[in-house]
Amino acid sequence: MLPVARTSKSRKGMRRAHHALVPVGYQSCPQCGQERLPHRMCSNCGYVNASLGLVINKKAKKKSA
Ligand SMILES: [Zn+2]
Repeated sequence: MLPVARTSKSRKGMRRAHHALVPVGYQSCPQCGQERLPHRMCSNCGYVNASLGLVINKKAKKKSA
C-alpha cells in the first residue's frame, strides 16, 4: 500500500468506534427465575413460552432421545 492510501490514526479510530461488544441480553425465566436468552428454551426447566403452551420436560426429553 502506498503511503498516500495509508489510514490515519484518526480514521482507524473512527472505524473501530463501531467495534465495541454489546452485553448479552439475558432475561430471567418466568417459571424458575434462572437467566436465559430471549426466544430460547430455558436451560434449567425447559420453559419456552406460556402462550404457546410449550413446556418441555428436560428429563423426559432425555429418556426419549
Ligand atoms: Zn426456567
